[in-house]
Amino acid sequence: MKKQLTAATYPGRNKDDLIVVAGAGGFIGGSLVRYFHNQGFTRIRALDRKPLPHWYPRVSGVESLNLDLREKEHAIKAVEGAVEVYNLAADMGGMGFIERNRVACLRSILINTHLIDAAWKAGVDRYFFASSACAYNITLQQDPHVRALKESDAYPAMAERGYGWEKLMSEMFCQEYTAERGLKTAIARFHNVYGPNGTWDGGREKAPAAICRKVIEAKESGKHEIEIWGDGKQTRSFMYIDDCTKGIDMIMHSDDLIATPINLGTSELISINDLVSMAESIGGIKLNRSYDLDAPRGVAGRNSDNTFIKQMLDWEPSTPLREGLEKTYRWIEQQFADRKAGKHTVRDID
Ligand code: NAD
Repeated sequence: MKKQLTAATYPGRNKDDLIVVAGAGGFIGGSLVRYFHNQGFTRIRALDRKPLPHWYPRVSGVESLNLDLREKEHAIKAVEGAVEVYNLAADMGGMGFIERNRVACLRSILINTHLIDAAWKAGVDRYFFASSACAYNITLQQDPHVRALKESDAYPAMAERGYGWEKLMSEMFCQEYTAERGLKTAIARFHNVYGPNGTWDGGREKAPAAICRKVIEAKESGKHEIEIWGDGKQTRSFMYIDDCTKGIDMIMHSDDLIATPINLGTSELISINDLVSMAESIGGIKLNRSYDLDAPRGVAGRNSDNTFIKQMLDWEPSTPLREGLEKTYRWIEQQFADRKAGKHTVRDID
């Protein structure tokens, strides 16, 4: 088995090479900045269009720039001097957001289009694009007892309208910049990522954070009820943030994965009903459930087939959901308490 490389072990990479992370005011981008910072990388440029006070995890000692990467000039400025660029910037949120904001999701194509072109022109060595399981053909996801999705299931294409098509198209940009122009690109299709420092209220939050928050709210208010979107039978897999940052690093530095989309997710499938039960057990409470059958619910089932990542990296995300959810729940509980006490907490803004 080949030794799996990372930024820290990649031949010729130095700790003072400039790493650029786009979308760093958000959940995964911010966590990736902290990941590289903790590994001793000394020159990290963090970018986001949100004003700095609204960034999620802000890492001190990191150059933090407020740029809108849909603007070409901003993208050019963003990558100046960079050796590696990670694109985690997108207008995105949970199912409720992406079903109701397809135009905004599609317009994220401007981010990747400008950023990859600027990166190529600036002579960047490696470029990472955060794709999504929403790029997969939705007709394969109509049953809660799904067969897990493997990389070839994106074609023939019938991606999630708006968000998924933007991801598929941006993947193609990466592949063609490699094929025609020689830029080394990496593409990971994330399956639901969760953990501390993610959006937990305001409309862009995803299921694990939303459910934890609802359980905490129910405990606080004494109104022991919870509303679930859909019938709760829809199934998903959820990847803990630490697995995600590690996976990004390994995928980015694998020469065998250049321009090759790969799943980055767990294969631990769970229904939304069971996810609610898990959050209830962490919170030590049992709630009465009501189901909003008109709410956005997404595909009926979706799971990650990890055959390819295990074969390529001899690794797959493995944090047990119960363990990751407990940490997430406790973090949201603290945010909730801080907000109630009038302390500063971060909120997403449009
Ligand atoms: P997030 O919303 O927390 O972070 C995205 C960040 O991008 C935000 O801070 C936002 O302000 C920023 N952004 C949006 N438009 C921008 C622009 N024009 N210029 C600069 N910054 C801009 O989302 P996340 O969960 O951290 O997701 C990161 C990436 O991973 C996204 O590309 C997303 O589509 C992808 N992804 C995430 C998940 C998940 O479960 N979280 C799943 C699949 C794919």
